[in-house]
Amino acid sequence: MTLRTEIHLKPGDLLYTEGGENDCGYIIESGEIILFGTVDGKRVDIERRGPGSIVGELSVLTGRPRTVSVAALTECRAFRVSASQILALFEKLDPVLRACIDTSITFNATLQDQAANPGRLNAVVPLAPSTLNNAEDLIAELRFENDLVRGLKNGEFKMVYQPIVALSGGDIVGFEALMRWTHPEMGFVPPDRFILAAERIGAIHELTDFALMEACSALMRLRSQPGAPKGLFASVNISGQDIMRPDFVDFLTHVIDLHDLEPRHIKLEVTETALIADFEAADIHFKRLRELGFGLSIDDFGTGYSNLGYLKSLPLTALKIDRAFAGDAYQNAVSRGIVRLLIALGKELGVDIIAEGLETSDDVQTLQNLGCRFAQGYYFHKPMSEAELAAQLQTDTGKSRAVA
Ligand code: C2E
Ligand code: CA
Ligand code: CA
Repeated sequence: MTLRTEIHLKPGDLLYTEGGENDCGYIIESGEIILFGTVDGKRVDIERRGPGSIVGELSVLTGRPRTVSVAALTECRAFRVSASQILALFEKLDPVLRACIDTSITFNATLQDQAANPGRLNAVVPLAPSTLNNAEDLIAELRFENDLVRGLKNGEFKMVYQPIVALSGGDIVGFEALMRWTHPEMGFVPPDRFILAAERIGAIHELTDFALMEACSALMRLRSQPGAPKGLFASVNISGQDIMRPDFVDFLTHVIDLHDLEPRHIKLEVTETALIADFEAADIHFKRLRELGFGLSIDDFGTGYSNLGYLKSLPLTALKIDRAFAGDAYQNAVSRGIVRLLIALGKELGVDIIAEGLETSDDVQTLQNLGCRFAQGYYFHKPMSEAELAAQLQTDTGKSRAVA
């Protein structure tokens, strides 16, 4: 049997009746309906609904007969949503939201049962089924989020700095600021994990502000060291949510002023994925940042959204080729081909190319042969403290790691 999914109703037609089967719900596409019940044998109108409302879904979720009747007030078109479609949508919900809905459905059902059988009111109080089937994991994640906010206030976060070098000669030209969190019990927490959590709970801007403050004050001290590279810059990772902040540009300007730096000393790294989330906002903010003179890099280039259209519009200054390609180019011909293309693209666009994740001299040689000018990777330097970087800049003649 094929069930009709498009239902047309004339005024007064019934969509379903109280006590009826609970095999589907309906989305009202046009017209107006009325929900009504029966009290002491009399019809009681409850609510009118118009286009875009859903009816009948509750009895699918509770597995109970319809609790009200629904009739058309005007000509109506309704779309039938099968029980399995409703259950599939429900399954896709965030588990906490699903648990909240589950709890409220169960509670209402209990109230209804008690209203129908007042004698049972003082009988054994029913134990509601537990609605969170991953309560422990959830609590652990929520605790982690609380710890993150507390940890930032308690000074558990710090920045480390990984040098970015000129491939020919290995001289340090700048550094990327990377965040580290030592959790009091868990110890080292990978940044990918806490950055995602911070984005989820809306605390990323506090981490970004911290990273910018720390990186700028480190850069100010490092630049004032005797013999420091003239153009030494700091590259700071920012998240998609930062780009949308209306006060971001002002904050950034304030931070560099505070440290007597110029915009060209600061590069902001953003991933393609972060850009695509709200391209228009990114475009506006990027243009303003670039006008002021800040550097703008696309991070993990090649791994994200492959629509390269944004390259035409955004005023970029660098592309960072992801480790998955740059660090693999020596061994893998396909990666090498991709890196070659990306370098050509960078030249075409007039932006710097920085190869990430170079670990061996073969990696370095390969990237140099491909015409890449800048790099970052364990072969040259691992991320280090400000004091270590200061010492490195002092001793770095640019020759110890020279590449032929
Ligand atoms: P990313 O921005 O791509 O940073 C580069 C990552 O590659 C860093 O990992 C760095 O330590 C690592 N790396 C550098 N050279 C090599 C190499 O030769 N081999 C290997 N295997 N790895 C190398 P880290 O510090 O664990 O950071 C991971 C990610 O966390 C970063 O990836 C970035 O997306 C995010 N992150 C770190 N700090 C911050 C921050 O302050 N703000 C934001 N928004 N994200 C951050
Ligand atoms: Ca980065
Ligand atoms: Ca990267």
